[in-house]
Amino acid sequence: ETRIERHHYDVVVIGAGGAGLRAAIEARLAGKKTAIISKSLFGKAHTVMAEGGAAAAMGNVNSRDNWQVHFRDTMRGGKFLNNFRMAELHAKESPQRIWELETYGALFDRTKDGKISQRNFGGHEYPRLAHVGDRTGLELIRTLQQKIVSLQQEDKREFGSYDARIRVFSETTITELLLDGDRVAGAFGYYRESGEFILFEAPAVVLATGGVGRSYKVTSNSWEYTGDGHALALRSGATLINMEFLQFHPTGMVWPPSVKGILVTESVRGDGGVLKNSDGKRFMFDYVPDVFRKQYAETEEEADRWYTDPDNNRRPPELLPRDEVARAINTEVKEGRGTPAGGVYLDIASRKSAEEIRRRLPSMYHQFKELADVDITKEPMEVGPTCHYVMGGVEVDPDTGAAAGTVRGLFAAGEVSGGMHGSNRLGGNSLSDLLVFGKRAGGHAATYADQLTARPAVPVAAVEAAVETALAPLQRDTGENPYQLQQDLQVVMGDLVGIIRREGELADALGRLAELRERVAKVSAVGGRRYNPGWHLALDLRNMLVVSECTAKAALERQESRGGHTREDYPAMDPKWRRVNLVCALDGDAVRLTHKPLPRMRPELIGLFDRAELSKYLTDEELAEFDALTE
Ligand code: FAD
Repeated sequence: ETRIERHHYDVVVIGAGGAGLRAAIEARLAGKKTAIISKSLFGKAHTVMAEGGAAAAMGNVNSRDNWQVHFRDTMRGGKFLNNFRMAELHAKESPQRIWELETYGALFDRTKDGKISQRNFGGHEYPRLAHVGDRTGLELIRTLQQKIVSLQQEDKREFGSYDARIRVFSETTITELLLDGDRVAGAFGYYRESGEFILFEAPAVVLATGGVGRSYKVTSNSWEYTGDGHALALRSGATLINMEFLQFHPTGMVWPPSVKGILVTESVRGDGGVLKNSDGKRFMFDYVPDVFRKQYAETEEEADRWYTDPDNNRRPPELLPRDEVARAINTEVKEGRGTPAGGVYLDIASRKSAEEIRRRLPSMYHQFKELADVDITKEPMEVGPTCHYVMGGVEVDPDTGAAAGTVRGLFAAGEVSGGMHGSNRLGGNSLSDLLVFGKRAGGHAATYADQLTARPAVPVAAVEAAVETALAPLQRDTGENPYQLQQDLQVVMGDLVGIIRREGELADALGRLAELRERVAKVSAVGGRRYNPGWHLALDLRNMLVVSECTAKAALERQESRGGHTREDYPAMDPKWRRVNLVCALDGDAVRLTHKPLPRMRPELIGLFDRAELSKYLTDEELAEFDALTE
């Protein structure tokens, strides 16, 4: 018989990035016994890698900033496909969440008069990103961990044990959610080191597992981002939305090949860095789309004046939203104006003093020095697009984070959830998203657990099935090698479902994903259960596959270009498609896609935009409704 370690909790949080930690803190503050589970070492989530900062309309650097302006920027960035209620809550609550972090001990960089400093970033009208140099995520995670330790110390005094009400299980991967009917009853997984199984019985689970980038070869994401939470949600009856929208960050390293994809923070551009092609031309002026023309400078002189006089000049086009910049770089390289390594130049050396570069961008300075032997205070960087962030994710109730679909007791927050960012996320809006919706999901998971009259029970058969699925790759003597399968998947997604998409290629991708699905069903891992990365990848693959299918299917279905979804055969944005969310669900094993109308923006929110702007996004029918409202 297989040994399984059992635990009982009120709330289980899967993921220890910003969203997971903030959710766990809230559940514990509500008095719930809470577990935090992380696949990697505690503290080593993507959140820690976030460089630029957290967007919050505190108005510290420009007092004209407020939640309405932030809301507008977020909706524009997402090309009006965002869940408006999430964008509203996010814009309203981010400042409180940042100030609250300071009460937990965070120390952000300051303005001269001692307020939290805020920096410029793409798509944000005013300087808005609270930051700590270019290591903001590190401070965020450090602070949340410190808060958890302080709560554990309280519990030690009260109950005699640090772990009484909040405990961290690191290097532990969850492979299944267990259901009692349509209710969450627990989660099943294994310790990565020993390979031993572990079972959490809990009525409420918060998914905070982050992104899906490892299905692409060139990515800023680290090894654990295989879309586990997305897949766990699907398999438990929840739904995903917006899966066609992936953010390719415009500036990843392109050289040397071993580090291709590693992120070069947008702060380089926020702080004055400019993009040039191999002719030395600052090419972004040629790529300002109509919808943004009013807000962006037309000449280099105006763009350069903006850094010191933003009230009387328009922004440099290097600070357009990421999807626009990534596509522009892609075009420059494709048309033969790229660098030797196949990127473009990002130049800060000729624009700022060496001392200032080292002070404002210390991590970037070291990253290029150590990995590429490039001194960014003297030479330009070579950069190109890299798969960075998934806008799509678990469809949730905007106020509570409760997953839509048939399942109850499941919540999601952070990158694994969908809706907040629409078709494209603005830089800096993730860190604030984690705090705002992490807190909400943790709080509502606690409330849900409180309101139950009877706790759900974990069915024995579900546990047996979970064990069987987990052990299967080890028990097949012959079968496919997981590393080969991952490589093949990355080729399909990178080549056929990448930054620019076409109907024929997407259909081809779906055929190949179906073949891969059969091969993944026969994957085998050599060796035993003790620290066996091949086995771990074998288990991750089925998650990567089902999530990739959702992305490819939705990308084929959406016949327009918007944000992180570019169709060469449908190059324009189509107002008809703005009203549609593509919802992904599992029907048995098969991915099913349905159309769902977007929720309507409330009148006082839609009234924040002028008609001329709305007419670029809305259908005539919607505009008529708007006119009726404002008469
Ligand atoms: P993450 O921080 O990604 O954490 C996910 C957690 O889930 C991890 O602990 C992981 O181990 C765990 N997990 C996953 N699967 C399982 C499983 N099966 N079982 C158990 N645990 C699991 N955003 C900004 O707003 N500003 C920035 O400046 C910025 N810079 C970035 C720089 C880089 C290099 C990258 C990669 C991203 C950046 N982002 C930035 C994006 C942002 O960091 C992420 O979107 C965000 O941190 C995601 O947070 P999260 O809490 O949702 O998940």
